Amino acid sequence: MQTPQYQARDRAHHLHPFTDFKALGEEGSRVVTHAEGVYIHDSEGHRILDGMAGLWCVNLGYGRRELVEAATAQLEQLPYYNTFFKTTHPPALKLAEKLCELAPAHVNHVFFTGSGSEANDTVLRMVRRYWALKGRPGKRWIIGRENGYHGSTVAGMSLGGMAPMHDQGGPCVPEIAHVAQPYWFGEGRGRELSPEAFGRQCAAALEDKILELGEENVAAFIAEPVQGAGGAIMPPASYWPAVKEVLAKYDILLVADEVICGFGRLGEWFGSQHFSLEPDLMPIAKGLSSGYLPIGGVLVGDRVADTLIDEGGEFFHGFTYSGHPTCAAVALRNLELLEAEGVVDRVREDLGPYLARRWAELAEHPIVGEARSLGLMGALELVADKAAGTRFDKSLSAGNLCRDLCFEAGLVMRSVGDTMIISPPLVITHEEIDELVRLARQALDETARRLS
Ligand code: PLP
Repeated sequence: MQTPQYQARDRAHHLHPFTDFKALGEEGSRVVTHAEGVYIHDSEGHRILDGMAGLWCVNLGYGRRELVEAATAQLEQLPYYNTFFKTTHPPALKLAEKLCELAPAHVNHVFFTGSGSEANDTVLRMVRRYWALKGRPGKRWIIGRENGYHGSTVAGMSLGGMAPMHDQGGPCVPEIAHVAQPYWFGEGRGRELSPEAFGRQCAAALEDKILELGEENVAAFIAEPVQGAGGAIMPPASYWPAVKEVLAKYDILLVADEVICGFGRLGEWFGSQHFSLEPDLMPIAKGLSSGYLPIGGVLVGDRVADTLIDEGGEFFHGFTYSGHPTCAAVALRNLELLEAEGVVDRVREDLGPYLARRWAELAEHPIVGEARSLGLMGALELVADKAAGTRFDKSLSAGNLCRDLCFEAGLVMRSVGDTMIISPPLVITHEEIDELVRLARQALDETARRLS
């Protein structure tokens, strides 16, 4: 099939996620046909460096035979069985065991789901159930953050702080509030606060919200260790220590959403470890299977797990695909490969620092106001006037223009407003990082030329 035929058939029947259906119909989709390593290929014959690892998930890169073989073997052995009503199967129990071996010491249980959104639905129910069992049923409020992302189901989008999502198909789940995000470039810089002062101010905003709602009513705080979809937002160093103090002071559970940060993205198995967090609950998905098959879960710390197990009775919650054997077998193999190949350590010790050095060079570019990275996640803030730090006029859609020019140059880089973000496969080499930076620079040059 040629590209126009693919596009016509796609347009006729396929409604894409997070897409303006009409605009896509007019422009036509890019048709991705195959992939290997860190590259995807489209129906026009282009080879494109996937700077986003799909949707932050293809941690091991494309084309791993071992994962194909794990899936095939499991499909032949037992393609599906459920884990409801006291049944189990080897892939689910082995994956649970492996995850708890990799997780921080106080985490010894996992509840499986089909996705990150379902993991956060599970979080909401577990958190409220926990406090009810503790004899404090008033503790129902969950505090998330503005511009946080926790998925697209009703609970996921309610916990997230994406206003455009809240505005469609509401109302949101009640008893969820949002506080300021620790986004210094976007929200602290203009107020002439140092990053450290701004980080403390965001933690203070959390405390204010707890006092406003009443500490006896607040169940949990949910946040990504580093905000991903919001724009690869690395918090100032003061932020997490101050947040930890606030949560301990008022006996509030911490939910660290590890859907993006987990499985090596920040150079540790979990982003929480980078920030020395000890979360009570950790939703996971994406890199758990390197995106090869859909699987998610919630890692549950002892405090919550012991209560649910010892006092909870039946938990009326679960999904047909909770612990799906084929997905679990692939996830297990993925974790074994990440471990055997030392991928997480390499991100921390070699690739992360190398990317940081090369990425920082882009800060010199005339339309870049900030270049930041942590592990293998990075962002560039586009600005119209570098000296004054002012943004481009919104009507210019500078970020989307730069994203499209990246594609043309042969690089997937995503735009969130005028923030350009990357999150490449964790198996990227130095040479491929060099190529990524070169293509990003080329797209920045062209963006600057078109907007001047
Ligand atoms: N949580 C975070 C931090 C995410 O980034 C995402 C997806 O991008 C989700 C949850 C939702 O995961 P899924 O799309 O698998 O439902």
